[in-house]
Amino acid sequence: MNNSVLRLTLLVLAAFAAIGVQETAAQASLSGDVLSGMSEINEKDVRATISFLASDEMAGRDTPSPELTIASAYVAARFRGAGLIGGVDGSFYQTHRVATVAMPNSDIEFKIDGVSAEHFGVLAALDEDFSFIGSVTEVEIGDDSSAVTFDGAVLVDGGEVSSPREQFFFRRQLRSLKQQGATCILIKVNADSPMVAAAIKATRPRLVNPRQRASLPTLLVSDFDTSKLVSITIPKRRNGDAEVRNVIGVLPGSDEILEKEAVVFSAHLDHVGSQAGLEDPVFNGADDDATGVTGVIKLADAFAALKTPPKRTMIFMTFWGEEKGLLGSRHYVNNPTWPLDKIVANINIEMIGRPEAGAAEKCWMTGWDQSDLGALMAEASDTAGVRIFEHPKFSQMLYRASDNYSFVEKGVVAHSFSAGSLHDDYHQPGDEWEKLELRHMTRVIQGLFVGSLPIANGEVTPKSSRN
Ligand SMILES: [Zn+2]
Repeated sequence: MNNSVLRLTLLVLAAFAAIGVQETAAQASLSGDVLSGMSEINEKDVRATISFLASDEMAGRDTPSPELTIASAYVAARFRGAGLIGGVDGSFYQTHRVATVAMPNSDIEFKIDGVSAEHFGVLAALDEDFSFIGSVTEVEIGDDSSAVTFDGAVLVDGGEVSSPREQFFFRRQLRSLKQQGATCILIKVNADSPMVAAAIKATRPRLVNPRQRASLPTLLVSDFDTSKLVSITIPKRRNGDAEVRNVIGVLPGSDEILEKEAVVFSAHLDHVGSQAGLEDPVFNGADDDATGVTGVIKLADAFAALKTPPKRTMIFMTFWGEEKGLLGSRHYVNNPTWPLDKIVANINIEMIGRPEAGAAEKCWMTGWDQSDLGALMAEASDTAGVRIFEHPKFSQMLYRASDNYSFVEKGVVAHSFSAGSLHDDYHQPGDEWEKLELRHMTRVIQGLFVGSLPIANGEVTPKSSRN
């Protein structure tokens, strides 16, 4: 045995020790360089990465929010640390400004018989200042009272309303009051009502939702004598804007010709934020989709660690606004930093932390029959002992449900890879990183790495089955 073979053998053994997997016959065919790339994807760093991204301090990474901005700085730092270059004229950020709206938090007035009375905040305001002086009609919600009409302000009892679900249905019931002639709603609550927390949250800028119907000006108040005259002033909603950013890092290809073609690895960084007033207010979005972002970061580490970088250019990307309707990825494909017709595949990663029973260390692709990407990747990932398969239910169901679809709409071969289940914690505060199966997740990321190598090196090119 000569020295270089020995060194390679030691490297291979060290890589296996680091990966912590039993060597299989298939894995023996992986080169030392691939194995050392693979060893970058380890449970230790997966744990470190995911436990930060899904921490309570990230407050559920809502779009827009200061925490989402911090999370994007973290992803950029990791891309920088991996040795990637910024994908937007040298910067890691593709910035964009989005329109926001917030409820007024000052100059609100509530007077009873001319004397200032306590209120607990505004749940809804108009696009113009609102004021009202007159008497108030107390109304029962939930009665079939559509024939009854009012004029002016109404008072309803919100004392029993607690969970976000109850708040949703309660506020939906209030809609009919507008048709019945009400111009303003006062909701009777106690100071510790979760609706008070919702009103505080409403003063934080949120994305304008063009589909949301305007509701009546709505003020939270304590019980009062409705025979008295009230005067109400609710200033208009505060319109503004906020910066959001996709994070983009590039590992240039090593082949003169193939470097012009790119493979895009992506995941969404945003989740749905927090809901004050709940026992656990933070929707951590650990599985959805801090797992995907962790996957993208670890794939960047793995590809960048290869002694010979892939022939094609590797682009690593995280998006804002997926939970608001694929907004960040739509912004990207409409303002691409790489020619879309030179993106040979988008490998989007969604929820890889909580496998279904019997599916540990396996991964499925959405839209399986829309291209041959799954088949190509499955063949290569087998050599790493990770199976990529067509899920009998979800592959079809979820093809249009994530950021890959923004690329599909522009003609790019694009799919999401998932290794999860639609668990009870989906979009709930209980989606915490402690519930993830980190070993499973680590192995799936390794599988995606090895599975995409033939594409990265230009040995194969996925084809859409659409034409
Ligand atoms: Zn998601």
